[in-house]
Amino acid sequence: MSSVKKNDVIKQSEKLPKTTKLEKGSAKAQDLGKGKKKDSRKKSTASEGDNMDPAEVNDLVVCNLCKQDMCSPKHLPCLHTFCETCITKHIKQEKAQSTNMHVVCPTCEYHISVPRASDETKTFAESLPVSTLVSSLLSKKDLLQKKCKRCKQHGRDTTADNWCAYCAQTLCDEHLEYHLSLTSNRHPVFDVDEVIKNPDIGFASKKCKYHEKEDMKLFCNDHWNICCNICSKRLHGMCNTCLIEHDTSTIKTHSEITNLKRKLESISTHTEKMRQDILSNIEAMNKQVSLEKENIKEFRIQINKQLDDLEQQLCHELDHVHSEKLKELEREAHIVDMKHQTSLMYKTMLSVVLKDASNIQSLSNLADIRHNAHRLEDELRLDKYKLQKIAIQVSLKSRDF
Ligand SMILES: [Zn+2]
Ligand SMILES: [Zn+2]
Ligand SMILES: [Zn+2]
Ligand SMILES: [Zn+2]
Ligand SMILES: [Zn+2]
Ligand SMILES: [Zn+2]
Repeated sequence: MSSVKKNDVIKQSEKLPKTTKLEKGSAKAQDLGKGKKKDSRKKSTASEGDNMDPAEVNDLVVCNLCKQDMCSPKHLPCLHTFCETCITKHIKQEKAQSTNMHVVCPTCEYHISVPRASDETKTFAESLPVSTLVSSLLSKKDLLQKKCKRCKQHGRDTTADNWCAYCAQTLCDEHLEYHLSLTSNRHPVFDVDEVIKNPDIGFASKKCKYHEKEDMKLFCNDHWNICCNICSKRLHGMCNTCLIEHDTSTIKTHSEITNLKRKLESISTHTEKMRQDILSNIEAMNKQVSLEKENIKEFRIQINKQLDDLEQQLCHELDHVHSEKLKELEREAHIVDMKHQTSLMYKTMLSVVLKDASNIQSLSNLADIRHNAHRLEDELRLDKYKLQKIAIQVSLKSRDF
């Protein structure tokens, strides 16, 4: 059956008008030329990219939600892959927290539209595509050791002869029995040795989204699309298509790979540059903030100094006013004291004259005393002396800071 279909495909590609083929060919050559220029410039980076970092590869099989090797690895449209149970839980939580029509990928925040009803969450997660990449990485990791993964999780070391292709897990006979009863025999289980011999055995061919009964058997080289036979005839009639089962040997050397590598290289260079820009932006901002803090400190020191100066100035002015007023009051006190002493002396003189002086003597003395008492009284009246309380006040109103 498949060989007949293959012939069909070849005939289809032969039917392609030659001009179209040529145009396409020349366009590709141009693309390649551009690619070569860039590649030669960035040779070191490109070769680094080809040497895989084992830690980075291992990260691919670890679920970002439970931080363990994935079980039933399912990928979202953004290709981020999680355990089926983990992503189900994540979607349920997201739905409970928001009224949005979408949830976001836990790793890259890509928006994914999901059915509203919560009982559909599990079926949605089940309907997500199995990550064949993660599955095969997990099988590479676990199959050769032939140890039961479930037993290992419980600290036991048991030989495993079974491989659940759905969960991408090795299982011992005991765990297999339990596993099958739990999943109502729906998971395809294979013999470990068989899977080692033929790694593709676990990956049942996908069915077409639009034609449920059709296997996704064909690959369109022009659109890089996997499709079913019906879709191939309808949408890729003029394209160079091939049967996945037979004609995949050239896929890894396809000219598009160069473009893809270049594209990813340019994206990662761009994002790395953006990342560096943001980091240096943060660094610059941090520097600026600590500089400003220094400035605030310096500002405070200046304010302190100005306050010190002001305090000194005010004290100086106050001292000046104080000493002026003090002199004034002391002078006043001195004058009053002199008048007081004079009045006392006049009183004594009057007593002495009245007691001891002869009448003739006392006549002129009394006239003198009387005259001076009048003078003293006049002086005091002229002074209109009234006690004034001195108010000394410091005001900051008219001062500049
Ligand atoms: Zn997980
Ligand atoms: Zn994502
Ligand atoms: Zn086991
Ligand atoms: Zn399973
Ligand atoms: Zn189809
Ligand atoms: Zn096509």
